[in-house]
Amino acid sequence: MRQPTKASALAAVRETIGVSSIAGTRTRPSDGAEFEIRYPGDGCVIGSVAGAGDATVDAAVGAALGAFPRWAATPPSDRGRVLLRAANRLRERKLELAAVEVLDTGKPIREALEVDVDSAADCLDFFGRAITGLESAHRDLGSLHTYTRREPLGVCVGIGAWNYPLQIAAWKAAPALATGNTMVYKPSELTPLSTVLLAEILIDCGLPPGAFSVVQGGGETGRALVRHPDVRKVSLTGSVSTGIEIMREAAATLKRVTLELGGKSPLIIFNDADVERAVSGAMLANFYTQGEICSNGTRVFVQHEIADRFTQRLVDRTAMLRIGDPFDGTTHVGAMISDNHARKVMGYIDAGIAAGAECVAGGVEVALDGLGGRFIAPTIFDRCDDGMPIVTDEIFGPVLSILRFDDEVEAVTRANATPYGLAAGLFTRDSGRAHRVAAALEAGVCWVNTFNQTPVEVPFGGTKMSGFGRENGLAAIDHYTELKSVMVETSTLKDPYPT
Ligand code: NDP
Repeated sequence: MRQPTKASALAAVRETIGVSSIAGTRTRPSDGAEFEIRYPGDGCVIGSVAGAGDATVDAAVGAALGAFPRWAATPPSDRGRVLLRAANRLRERKLELAAVEVLDTGKPIREALEVDVDSAADCLDFFGRAITGLESAHRDLGSLHTYTRREPLGVCVGIGAWNYPLQIAAWKAAPALATGNTMVYKPSELTPLSTVLLAEILIDCGLPPGAFSVVQGGGETGRALVRHPDVRKVSLTGSVSTGIEIMREAAATLKRVTLELGGKSPLIIFNDADVERAVSGAMLANFYTQGEICSNGTRVFVQHEIADRFTQRLVDRTAMLRIGDPFDGTTHVGAMISDNHARKVMGYIDAGIAAGAECVAGGVEVALDGLGGRFIAPTIFDRCDDGMPIVTDEIFGPVLSILRFDDEVEAVTRANATPYGLAAGLFTRDSGRAHRVAAALEAGVCWVNTFNQTPVEVPFGGTKMSGFGRENGLAAIDHYTELKSVMVETSTLKDPYPT
């Protein structure tokens, strides 16, 4: 396999860098703010983005509104075929798209090749097929023939975070388009590259221009999309504060909203767990994509009897992780997304040390020859207290906190003592306990003896302050459709009025 490089990634976006894709046309709007695009691996500027202002947002929404009637009336199997073709195209262009994802995010290429492109393609596949099997409900009420129809909402807006740009866009676009909606998508201003390629692939595979547009820009562009009167629904992947603001803005026009927000997920390791497997789970739950994953199990509760053994093995195996050039296929830990974010993560590490937690691994930035990006060593804090900022706040970096516990009730109570409710996990060999604890944990997703697996067939989303609504699985279809009840009187009408 050819090894992607920064040069090959740059070549892949040579003609699309920084553009918006509106109704299939590349544009560099002049009505929004201009900002630089940096490759997180070396911190160097690789181009600039012309952000979309109100007029450009209006044009994209107008194109989506114009494309809606024809796309909504397209037979579901034909809509599905467009998505299936696009899924194949993503797989054919996997090397190139994975390289672009690394250029956008600074994550290791091995992860982009293993997860990011496939996850986007799988999602297009899943909804492309699912839409052809969708059935409606019929109720036999005698002479009243009744059934329900699932109808698209209209123009939907997707707004994404920067950690999985391609995956997040596909997780929103696939169910929206499969069900006959059109969509305007705004990626994070930090990761503007891969979603434009996704738009072009969809249109190349038969999607009507206008049915999926990408507008570039920051929070102001997102706000203009959310306020637009012709938009019927907004789906956000982002922080809690942005979710709250979007919900407030969307209320003015009663838009539907689904929110995939932040988390501070618990991972509980019981005495009877397979320790080696639990260590793998904890690493997977904390260090993938440099820890920049919403569902990460950063609060690792370990039962006293095995805590020392578990911690020692975790420290030893973490020392084996290679922090390095994101384009190097042997790298396990890549670059933080930005200077600002690295500063925030280091601030939490300092706060953890100041609060008295014992830093048993990492805790430092790593300078790499020839790479000016910000690299943070996977960090493990032992002997943490539940009230420490490293334990209460979402850090969104490679920072794991170990909390020791005595029994199941205590573990569940402490695990649930958070405003967040995105995900949770546990390791045990006791199947009764597995189901009991999974039921008791306040989270939208719960993993047993594994962590951070997100097959597209299974609904994904949070509860409490981690948001509401579900992506993936057939559940996502509810969030992109309106239910219409049709009642047909097949006999005489019972008329209460004099004739
Ligand atoms: P932000 O909330 O800062 O941004 C998310 C998106 O919203 C960006 O595109 C941003 O634009 C946009 N935005 C910001 N303000 C507004 C606004 N007022 N109106 C409309 N759009 C707006 O999150 P980050 O990008 O920093 O991502 C990290 C966060 O995302 C973490 O909290 C993480 O947990 C969460 N997340 C949740 C996931 C989930 O599935 N639950 C998955 C991945 C991340 P811009 O950035 O360009 O300014």
